[in-house]
Amino acid sequence: MLNIAIDGPSGAGKSTVAKAIAKELGILYLDTGAMYRAVGLKAVRLGVSCTDEDKVKEFLPHVQIDVKYQEDGMHIYLDGEDVSTAIREHYVSKCASDISKIPAVRLKLVELQREIAANNPVVLDGRDITSYVLPHANCKFFLTASPEIRARRRTDELLARGQSADYDKILADIIDRDYNDSHRDFCPLTQTEDSILVDSGNMSADEVKEYMLRHIRKHME
Ligand code: C5P
Repeated sequence: MLNIAIDGPSGAGKSTVAKAIAKELGILYLDTGAMYRAVGLKAVRLGVSCTDEDKVKEFLPHVQIDVKYQEDGMHIYLDGEDVSTAIREHYVSKCASDISKIPAVRLKLVELQREIAANNPVVLDGRDITSYVLPHANCKFFLTASPEIRARRRTDELLARGQSADYDKILADIIDRDYNDSHRDFCPLTQTEDSILVDSGNMSADEVKEYMLRHIRKHME
């Protein structure tokens, strides 16, 4: 089964590029961050702190997370409700980052990720796909860019949508999430030795896609 794994920090452009590669190859795209966001959203809705491991472990066995594919791509369901839009709220990002430190949460979601990857050709993006979820994936990439460039892109994106954006706040938030993701004890974000490093800092999304597709096609020959 063709499995392509892409890891990297928040805002490096993983989802844009992973979606484009999946489309080009006619395979699925699995956004694993959406799963952590859905569990984070559940905690918020229950009024449980995302850092309270005991309370999270209490509700975790009863949470149903499902991934379904529709014409417009992947949708994420929380207890039967499509929360694909709700999980994009800003407050969910920090909560997802906090809740993803809890090993029990990771184990539950990794099981689902591995099941999808075993049964479908898929491009997955996340933080621990190359190191833990699918260490034997066919192609492995680490996509990154400096925090300043990622913050600038995010600011421009929000402004272009007519939303307010404070560059300094966004940069601080990115640095905070990077630290959280790369310093947790269980499955931290790291670049594995066999991952191809792609710095998207001076590349357009199209250039990144083409560069990665060249590697993938070479591998598939
Ligand atoms: O990718 P995204 O920013 O949507 O992910 C939300 C959060 O989920 C990240 O900040 C990260 O802490 C966590 N995550 C993770 N492992 C993954 C994917 C996401 O820990 N494979």
